[in-house]
Amino acid sequence: MGNKTIQQSYTGLRMLRGFLSALAILFCFTGSSIASDEYARVHQKLIEAIRAHAAVPGAGAPGGRISEAVLSAMRAVPRHEFVPEPFRHFAYRDQPLPIGHGQTISQPYIVALMTELAMVAAGSVVLEVGTGSGYQAAVLSRLVRRVYTIEIVEALARSATKVLARLGYQNVTVRAGDGYLGWPEHAPFDAIIVTAAAPKIPPPLLEQLKPGGRLVIPVGGRAGAQSLMLIEKGRDGRITRKSVIGVRFVPLTRAR
Ligand code: SAH
Repeated sequence: MGNKTIQQSYTGLRMLRGFLSALAILFCFTGSSIASDEYARVHQKLIEAIRAHAAVPGAGAPGGRISEAVLSAMRAVPRHEFVPEPFRHFAYRDQPLPIGHGQTISQPYIVALMTELAMVAAGSVVLEVGTGSGYQAAVLSRLVRRVYTIEIVEALARSATKVLARLGYQNVTVRAGDGYLGWPEHAPFDAIIVTAAAPKIPPPLLEQLKPGGRLVIPVGGRAGAQSLMLIEKGRDGRITRKSVIGVRFVPLTRAR
């Protein structure tokens, strides 16, 4: 009798334990599915915000719009995967966020605008200077044949390589180094996007642009007076430059 009671309570305990772990598993799953549902909802809202922002006069988007191709690339890339844990909840706000080493992931509207201005096509080979989190490279990778991206902070180059590989962006190659010098081995490029502000347009980047190619780069000092410039190299090699909007980027630093 005594044994039976012990046996019964033992079974009861096992059942309770089983029930609790089932509950815990259930919590984990609902927890994560709520989070991804929530991300999906705010991600879609961000895409709409970018579309609306582009229509505002003076926002720099050609014809007041970001193309559907660029918007759908932005919709396909999970920005929260490129944002460090403490800021992940803000990943779908239209704002830059810290990524460590004093650097930032750019504001999504600016990523969309720079991508739009570069006018890339499915066969393009693109250079990005300033990999940072790898987010801009991921967006480009959905639109072009090949992305080469250079980051001067080695730890950032390493973590961007890892996240891009984990998410399956196979047409992106990351290198640690000084992007001021471009990447001559893979030049010329259909487009070059620089995501750090240079005091002047780096001549090696102009050289590495294909005739008919476009360079999108913030130009200006640290104090905030920077202009996002669109530089076009004509088929005849002639350079034209246009200032698009005022921006605020981290500085392009040089290897010592
Ligand atoms: N495109 C990035 C934004 C990064 S911020 C993203 O999507 O997250 C700009 C980055 O440029 C920083 O990570 C900074 O370390 C890097 N950088 C600054 N000067 C550089 C240089 N000379 N060559 C390569 N990267 C540089």
